[in-house]
Amino acid sequence: MQTTSFQQALSLARAGAKPDVAWLVPLLACADADAPELYRTADTVRAAAIGDGVYLRGLIEFSNICRKDCAYCGLRRDNRGAERYRLTPDQIVECTREAESLGYGTVVLQSGEDPWFTAERMADIIRRIKAETKVAITLSIGERPEADYRLWREAGADRYLLRIETTDPAIFAAIHPDDDLEERKQCLYTLKKLGYQLGSGVMAGLPGQTPEILSRDVIWLHELGAEMIGVGPFIPHPATPLKAAKGGTVEQTLRLVAVLRLVFPHAHIPATTAMGSLDPKGREKALMAGANIVMPNVTPTTVRPQYEIYPGKICTGDDARHCRGCIGHRIEAIGRTVASGPGHVVRKK
Ligand code: SF4
Repeated sequence: MQTTSFQQALSLARAGAKPDVAWLVPLLACADADAPELYRTADTVRAAAIGDGVYLRGLIEFSNICRKDCAYCGLRRDNRGAERYRLTPDQIVECTREAESLGYGTVVLQSGEDPWFTAERMADIIRRIKAETKVAITLSIGERPEADYRLWREAGADRYLLRIETTDPAIFAAIHPDDDLEERKQCLYTLKKLGYQLGSGVMAGLPGQTPEILSRDVIWLHELGAEMIGVGPFIPHPATPLKAAKGGTVEQTLRLVAVLRLVFPHAHIPATTAMGSLDPKGREKALMAGANIVMPNVTPTTVRPQYEIYPGKICTGDDARHCRGCIGHRIEAIGRTVASGPGHVVRKK
């Protein structure tokens, strides 16, 4: 079989070729010496497509209670050592007001799959936020029936994030004992049909993952038409079945961020907190390899350390105002600007 070189693959990416394993793998598995060119190319594509602005999304982690038992996650229901919390609807709305006062045009409401937040309770929260603030709302609260997604969309939710984590059936089954890959995909198709701005994503460095598998993930996300794509390194949590697994790396994740930018010039791609947790400059590196979003935390610091999907998470003790200042300086230090407004997805005509 004829193999594609790194330079040939990069040319195909620059030309906007349809994503294909044959040219995605040489980029995802490129040599360290080639990686800076990959990152620079992705950065150039990002600048040309969507400019230098970095959107800040205020992240509200409103409940760490979860009915599921994902093998990589510190919030899994079988982790009896996790101290659980749930913010009240009033507290969630208050966090949203604080996010707006800090200039964030979007809040991301994220939680474990907590059944206390029934469809109607969530809809009330969404309606209150929409009545009391001007922020866009992204939901990141897992798999739900179509009727729930529909109710929340009608209540005013703008976007939904549901990471597929991997499209490889064997890896998906190994890490998601409660889930079915086809059902997860169906949730994403439903969200798209309902008109949400659609976010998904994958984890880099999962046990058994190969560049070929990651390539197929990228192709699937492209077929899905994902508009926001979150990727972070897998970081093993000591209270999970994967505690002894080898984690993902910053370099592996940066290659994936860069490849995603080449395939999705207009998508919103976050520089994830997980990157900043593995490397003090991890978020800046991601921003310079194609990313354009940062999600500063506005969860009350009294509970923030308890939202521990992975260990060593940064920014758990800093109040929201401090986080705003810190992230603004980091963005300006790499020659970028903080963007204003809701930062809705850019849809090509
Ligand atoms: S990844 Fe999400 S659904 Fe899975 S255990 Fe963690 S919080 Fe729950």
